[in-house]
Amino acid sequence: MSQDSNKYKKYFYEKKLVWEEINQKERQAVLDFGEDYKKFIDLSKTERNSVKEIVKRAQEQGFVPIDSVNSIEKGMKVYTINKDKAVALFVIGEDELESGLNIVGSHIDAPRIDLKQCPLYEDSGLSLLKTHYYGGIKKYQWVTMPLALYGVIIKENGEKIEVSIGDNEDDPVFFITDILPHLAKDQYKKNLSEAIAGEDLNVIIGSLPYDDKEAKDKFKLNVLRLLNDKYGITEEDFLTAELEIVPAGKCRDVGIDRGLIAGYGHDDRVCAYTSLQAVLETKNNKKTAVGLFVDKEEIGSVGNTGMNSEFFNNAVSELLYLEKGKFSGLELRRTLANSSVLSSDVAAAFDPTYPSVLEKLNSPYIGNGVTLVKFTGSGGKSGANDANAEYIGKLRKLFNENNIIWQTGELGKVDQGGGGTIAYILAKFNMDVVDLGVPVLSMHAPYEIVSKADVYMTYKAYKAFYDYYI
Ligand code: MN
Ligand code: MN
Repeated sequence: MSQDSNKYKKYFYEKKLVWEEINQKERQAVLDFGEDYKKFIDLSKTERNSVKEIVKRAQEQGFVPIDSVNSIEKGMKVYTINKDKAVALFVIGEDELESGLNIVGSHIDAPRIDLKQCPLYEDSGLSLLKTHYYGGIKKYQWVTMPLALYGVIIKENGEKIEVSIGDNEDDPVFFITDILPHLAKDQYKKNLSEAIAGEDLNVIIGSLPYDDKEAKDKFKLNVLRLLNDKYGITEEDFLTAELEIVPAGKCRDVGIDRGLIAGYGHDDRVCAYTSLQAVLETKNNKKTAVGLFVDKEEIGSVGNTGMNSEFFNNAVSELLYLEKGKFSGLELRRTLANSSVLSSDVAAAFDPTYPSVLEKLNSPYIGNGVTLVKFTGSGGKSGANDANAEYIGKLRKLFNENNIIWQTGELGKVDQGGGGTIAYILAKFNMDVVDLGVPVLSMHAPYEIVSKADVYMTYKAYKAFYDYYI
């Protein structure tokens, strides 16, 4: 930089590159953190598995179920699970609950392909499964790749069978086929969103006939027999199952310098992991710290395990009762309204291969740190939470004082599309809310990409929020 430009530097804002701002010791911490994160997402391929992994790590740090305690006091660590698909962790602070909570809320569902209730059929020497995709996927990305099957089957007697096939080294995997290029003349004429139809996402589950030439539907029968041997189920049990198809295999380092991670479900398990690690380490916090992990964000935060459920308010009500030995609705409302939230969700990173959909000045960049998104929405900010400048101003001070490399971001160019997070749902209780999370490349693809540097800075930002934000 020339003498002249240095002289005027104070007038300008410049983004910072995490790798250039950290010392050797912190660089090692970034890499180590990435290794543990990889372990976490490999074990958390569904919302149910994410809850298991979150609760396991919480229990190891001394968290106990809310309904196992008779009162709460400063420093106590409690959790509550919602139907095995959502969970909230609380580290009770010095101040009483009514002064507000510091909440970091992420979602643990990810785009995938669900089995229909009557999935199994045979055709032309194959056994296949009918599916209905979940969340915003580009359907053409999910064909001709190894897939795993996860979920639960509830038998008539109430027994819950857990299914997990495809991620152990010696497991078979599943596949969705595509048309060979030689015969794709008509397919090539279709636009990308129609080239692979939703009803064509049929998953191959078998190809051997049942060992009885006289048997009817012998390919389907053979699959049913194998499932019966392994799980004791019959075809009717699919009717009361929740089975999910996800990419098979582990996440991987990307690049010769290993700075990035490609993995399934960074959106939003990378924010779940970073907020989990932050809340597990929080102590001596003034405000009660909350790690909130919810389901169904990818389909609109609906249902009893999505953010729109009263689960979270009920949990806070229970805590208020444990604190005071009585409950008042007014107290709950004050607690919520005095709370502050980091809606922890991923942001769309600038992709140099597709600059036309992103605006250079306002896109978040890979390696430039945790990303604060003031507003999401689409077409004139419609549906956005659009955080208050006063709140963002306080976070700016917090982050700068704690050496957190952060940037701002937006969800693509104006009028190019858009999206949302759980932010607006918590804002409805009059909390201060802003989106803050990890920038991602290829969002919603079977394998998404994040930078280890951004993952670490996101953790640091959540940690500072829990420890110091008032
Ligand atoms: Mn998300
Ligand atoms: Mn998403």
